[in-house]
Amino acid sequence: GQTLQVVQVQLIPFEGGWLMLLEDITQAYDLMQMRRDFVANASHELRTPLTVFTGYLETLLDMLPPDLESLRPALEQMEQQAVRMRRIIEDLLTLSAVERQSRLENEHWIDMCAQLDTLRDEADLLSAGRHEITFSCEEKGRLYGDPNLLRSVFTNLLSNAVRYTPEGGRIAVRWYVSEKGGFFEVEDTGIGIPREHIPRLTERFYRVDTARSRETGGTGLGLAIVKHVLELHGGHLEVESLPYVGSTFRAVFPINRVT
Ligand code: ADP
Repeated sequence: GQTLQVVQVQLIPFEGGWLMLLEDITQAYDLMQMRRDFVANASHELRTPLTVFTGYLETLLDMLPPDLESLRPALEQMEQQAVRMRRIIEDLLTLSAVERQSRLENEHWIDMCAQLDTLRDEADLLSAGRHEITFSCEEKGRLYGDPNLLRSVFTNLLSNAVRYTPEGGRIAVRWYVSEKGGFFEVEDTGIGIPREHIPRLTERFYRVDTARSRETGGTGLGLAIVKHVLELHGGHLEVESLPYVGSTFRAVFPINRVT
């Protein structure tokens, strides 16, 4: 078929006037598209075999003959890893779906205080009483956006705070509005992030400490998803962090999406 021409336009100041630079980036664009499609297709194809695998494994665990009881820990390990694999596949599918979207398709006004209330239940499950978690919400907080996608932003930031904060730490979840926009913020007293890593956190599979992320069940894709979802909403992510002190992750939304 015919390839769409993709042109990048740049305006550069030049000798008191402007220089307009047109560059044909069709090829690079096509390659990017192909890479995305490939990742989406591959993830999709991996789903079914994994479901079958997990199904048999569960049956095996349920019906394990007494003389094979010594195999149980190994089988349980396999099951855990299969769960991890599924999580990675689901995140890859989510990421390629949001990357493909150029605009939001399902937008509503979301009551942020109600959102925070449901996050509270999730936080209880994730933390299991290991942290002191507080919530604060501005009365007039409504945000216009895609509820499912935003949900994944809130959950990702919260679960990261839980996973990277040692037992006994504090986590504060806040929603507030100023003349600059709407802010969803998660502050923790966790392990923090060395400054040089901060700019790269939203790259896919980027981790400060790979072992730790794996251990705590991370896929390395959470913040990449967060970044894309926020961009679709015209917003962005802000990160402030100090090693051994803690981190603040802030989703910033433009004022026209807030009442
Ligand atoms: P992961 O699934 O590995 O947590 P993310 O994309 O969610 O992947 O985060 C990328 C990396 O950013 C993590 O591996 C971790 O090193 C760092 N990170 C994210 N949130 C926090 C936090 N609240 N405190 C410390 N480090 C964090």
